[in-house]
Amino acid sequence: MDYPVKHQKLAGWANYPVIEADVATPGNYDQVRDYVAKNERLIARGNGKSYGDASLAPHVLSTLALRRMIHFDAVTGEIECEAGVLLSEILAEVIPHGWFFYVTPGIKHITVGGAIASDVHGKNHPTHGCFSNYLISFELMTESGKIVHCSKIEHADLFWKTCGGMGWTGIILSARFRLRPIRSTQMDQHTVWADNWEQLFGALSGRDSYEYAAAWVDSLAAGAQFGRGAVFFANHAEGQGSEPLVFQEKKPGNVPFTPPVSLINRWSTRIHNTMYLRKKPPGDYPVDLDSYFYPLDGVRNWNRMYGPRGFVQYQFCLPEQNAFDGIARALQAIQNSPDAPFLTVLKRHGERPAEAKYSFPIKGYSLALDFPRTRSIFSLVRKLDEIVWAAEGKIYLTKDAGSDKKMGRVEVADFEEKKWWSALKGRVETL
Ligand SMILES: Cc1cc2nc3c(=O)[nH]c(=O)nc-3n(C[C@H](O)[C@H](O)[C@H](O)COP(=O)(O)OP(=O)(O)OC[C@H]3O[C@@H](n4cnc5c(N)ncnc54)[C@H](O)[C@@H]3O)c2cc1C
Repeated sequence: MDYPVKHQKLAGWANYPVIEADVATPGNYDQVRDYVAKNERLIARGNGKSYGDASLAPHVLSTLALRRMIHFDAVTGEIECEAGVLLSEILAEVIPHGWFFYVTPGIKHITVGGAIASDVHGKNHPTHGCFSNYLISFELMTESGKIVHCSKIEHADLFWKTCGGMGWTGIILSARFRLRPIRSTQMDQHTVWADNWEQLFGALSGRDSYEYAAAWVDSLAAGAQFGRGAVFFANHAEGQGSEPLVFQEKKPGNVPFTPPVSLINRWSTRIHNTMYLRKKPPGDYPVDLDSYFYPLDGVRNWNRMYGPRGFVQYQFCLPEQNAFDGIARALQAIQNSPDAPFLTVLKRHGERPAEAKYSFPIKGYSLALDFPRTRSIFSLVRKLDEIVWAAEGKIYLTKDAGSDKKMGRVEVADFEEKKWWSALKGRVETL
């Protein structure tokens, strides 16, 4: 069968680890079946925007040629498409009809297959949960090449193992899910500054009148300012009249090449953190949808700023009762180390359905940290693993590149099919 298979260097968004892999890009389901049948140690890959090794294996099946928009009902807001369609492509199609995602991550350049396999969450997890909440069904190609229709009723066990299952159940071929109505492409944003950790945590925990919330933390502030930051609350704005909505995607800047060394270090981070708050005054103001949900999409290839060694993202979630102290301990451990995260984002999470046991968020709080890949970073990762484990928390596997295998709190035995490769079964050899 004729479809492209290329031997190449491959990495996730953080450019670490880098491996050599065979990457196939089948364009139809027969070609997908052919590659699945012929290869072991295989994993699906969407747009490669997971940070670490989630979509790395000796054999990689890219879904980027499975990009058919199968059906969109502009009246009910139900959509069906192939797994390689990007969220950005869906937005361009549905926003003019007054629809948006119920749950979106902070990036729109990911595939629908990737959104399901990581069961992504957004800034409204307490009220809307993960992507799986609005997922009606999907078609999954399993190890034998059979296509299984999975929903919350049919093959429900496989449905829930696939949501957050990081590709370990097979290849998601297509999916059907529900969208939410919107009447404006503006958001009403309410920004609160907090002078210390107690204020920041308290601010994020309150104000339930806002659907969306996420906090930026100045991870380097010490002493009386320890844990200071800002919380960005928002709701969808009310209607703008009867004109069709227009998705105004900001024209992105670009980091045109990878500098020979990382531009991100403790000193540039300190300057960035000091400037950051000045650009985000407290108060109420409108923000366009693209800027509120996808601020990092505003700079293409921003991952190159970390230089050729790449970076490491560490995101963990702690149960509510342990979150205040546990996150403070993690911030303290970072301050005691030589490493400094450039970006630190705190989110609040709500209950998850009992069946969604592979979804990352648990009721509590998560912290996401981006570190340059220094020589010392993995001793800090081990220290953070200890803190997270002791506080009964877990890490987000779609970000992971170096944590202990147990940290995702996944029963590997639940994923019996031997074909699908994963970091939990053994990390791939890096270059
Ligand atoms: C700037 C930025 C911001 C982000 N913000 C958030 C956020 O707010 N919330 C959040 O939850 N995540 C967030 N993420 C993570 C991102 O949403 C996930 O990693 C997502 O899975 C990436 O999708 P992808 O299409 O690039 O998949 P890839 O990175 O290619 O793959 C991710 C995983 O999905 C599996 N997979 C992909 N396609 C399929 C398929 N068709 N069948 C089976 N398995 C498949 C892969 O095997 C892999 O395990 C962010 C990432 C970036 C870079």
